[in-house]
Amino acid sequence: MSNKSLRVENFERFYGSVTDVIKQIENCPNCGAKLTMTHLSDHDNLYVHEEVRCLECSFETEETLHVLN
Ligand SMILES: [Zn+2]
Repeated sequence: MSNKSLRVENFERFYGSVTDVIKQIENCPNCGAKLTMTHLSDHDNLYVHEEVRCLECSFETEETLHVLN
């Protein structure tokens, strides 16, 4: 039960708000290497796609931010 709660907490920390986490750490939570961040703007669909990737291991996150509502 407590293990499950801890896992959910970690999940939300790393994947729930990727942008905030990456801005804080800037380094891979797996191996400590510097993360590579890519911003892709799609003006037709009015969103920004953000992809964070570690080149040293398989750590990888994606997040789509809607800039207009
Ligand atoms: Zn890594």
